[in-house]
Amino acid sequence: MRELSGRGTLGTVNALTILAASAALIPTPPVLKYQRGQPEGVNPLGVACYEPATDTIYFDGPMLHRSVRAHETGHAFDDQILTAGDRVYFQRLMHAPAGPWDPEGDGTNSPSEWFAEYYAAAAMNHDPRVEANVAYVQPGPKRLVRFRKALVRLAARRGITDTFE
Ligand SMILES: [Zn+2]
Repeated sequence: MRELSGRGTLGTVNALTILAASAALIPTPPVLKYQRGQPEGVNPLGVACYEPATDTIYFDGPMLHRSVRAHETGHAFDDQILTAGDRVYFQRLMHAPAGPWDPEGDGTNSPSEWFAEYYAAAAMNHDPRVEANVAYVQPGPKRLVRFRKALVRLAARRGITDTFE
């Protein structure tokens, strides 16, 4: 509700629709560890990074912010859950750039980064209609709803019961 207060631009029906859409809990990967600092042999990638070899989210600083944790959990979900077919599906659903899912040496505009951003937006109950995303991909409102539903369906099919907290 916090993000809806004080805006005055949304009617009751829209607000209820948004709450219903955001009520779905976002599934998380089965194994996730946390470690302060940087993984050995990996260049610093910013405030945090996910290391697939050890299923670990590394982070700098005194704490891991929830929004950053959500983004890195998206990478972990990608690594541990998604199949090649799932990635094709999500790349289309998000209207992410064409090409390889996770190209070598890419910055922020790869489909894998789009997935992490969409995942974070879904996990944080971000509403693109009333607030701009803080990071580098701006999910479309309808696409974010479809993304959220697709994640929940995928989790049901694969028997994933843990959800983002
Ligand atoms: Zn990322």
